[in-house]
Amino acid sequence: MTHCPACSGSAFENLIDFGTIPKSGIYLRSPIEDFPSIHHAFEFCASCCLIRQKAIESASHDYTHVPRATTRQFPKYIDAIIASLKSHGVSGSDLVIEVGSNDGGFLDRIASAGFRNLLGIEPSIACAGLSLAKDHKIITKHWDAETAATVLQDHGPARAVICRHTLEHVPRPLEFLQAIRSILAPDGIAFIEVPDARPITHDLRGHELWDEHLHIFTPTNLQLIMHRAGFSVLRCNAWPERSDINLLFWARVDDGLPQKSPPDSAAASAAEIQLCREFEARWKAFSSRLQAASASWSRPVYMLGASHPQTNFIHFTGLQNAIDAFLDDNPTKSNLLIPLAKPVPIFPTSKLLEHPTPGTILRGAFGYEEWMDRVTAPVASEPTTIVKPYEPRMIFLR
Ligand SMILES: [Zn+2]
Repeated sequence: MTHCPACSGSAFENLIDFGTIPKSGIYLRSPIEDFPSIHHAFEFCASCCLIRQKAIESASHDYTHVPRATTRQFPKYIDAIIASLKSHGVSGSDLVIEVGSNDGGFLDRIASAGFRNLLGIEPSIACAGLSLAKDHKIITKHWDAETAATVLQDHGPARAVICRHTLEHVPRPLEFLQAIRSILAPDGIAFIEVPDARPITHDLRGHELWDEHLHIFTPTNLQLIMHRAGFSVLRCNAWPERSDINLLFWARVDDGLPQKSPPDSAAASAAEIQLCREFEARWKAFSSRLQAASASWSRPVYMLGASHPQTNFIHFTGLQNAIDAFLDDNPTKSNLLIPLAKPVPIFPTSKLLEHPTPGTILRGAFGYEEWMDRVTAPVASEPTTIVKPYEPRMIFLR
């Protein structure tokens, strides 16, 4: 077992073991098609509460052939991030690098704000291709010390490095951050954004334990790992975004001078550790209650959404036999099947009433309340039961 990359502690405890489940993001064309399964389990550092997957070393984390572009509505604070670069003195001609630039959506935004010297790093060939088609400069590689050295040699140090929703996907986050640190100019600024682990452990949002997220950070351990990687954190915010919280960290190269806000301790609070220790029992109690309730749901039962939050939720709660179809408006998913206990179809919401009228609909598109209100409107006059899977939530609040 390797040490904690945030606090270097060596005591990890079990967070939860979901057993063997289908890998997320798998859509089948036929009910007899084969699909990959994984053993999905997490542990947490008993000192700093960093959550990580147990099988980090053995799993594949190669995004070269992952085509998924994440373009969607940008959070409202995107303009604030861009403005913060300007307020830190980054000018339009300064080199700004985005590590994990995906399809170039953020590069589009920052370019239209007047930044002209941009470079994206993106390992996915398909996503990099989308950015290249928009004339962005992209290096199609995974980010590591070697890529960083090449970038430094060819382009010189960066005045700013942006890394949004990428650090949680990488197997070696300390080395990844050190590589970012290595290309930053002495007066440069790094911006790191990751999902906050606390909704999972505090509010029991178990479906967020996605198989693509290898490490899940809290403000405490993100501060620790950044400090260890040679950064001095200037500012950290926790911003609500849909039903989740994102951690936004601004940092500069640690020059050895006294820091404004050094990490005060390597240890998470006793309450934080206790929430991790109790997580599996709380999730199992929640799942048992939901399974018991599902026995009285009228069939057919439809789940709103057909992405990883929904499949995670169904697999993690043991509802594989309770779902008859998923509803999703992504045209690339129509006519495909999702592997549950048996493969179940995905219907577009526009055709909701062309299929057997739902007996029950689960509002599983967490955070997309308006969309769910709209697509369930046609069944308002039907005897369809609408279930909010996480409610009532009061019993889990502490
Ligand atoms: Zn730790």
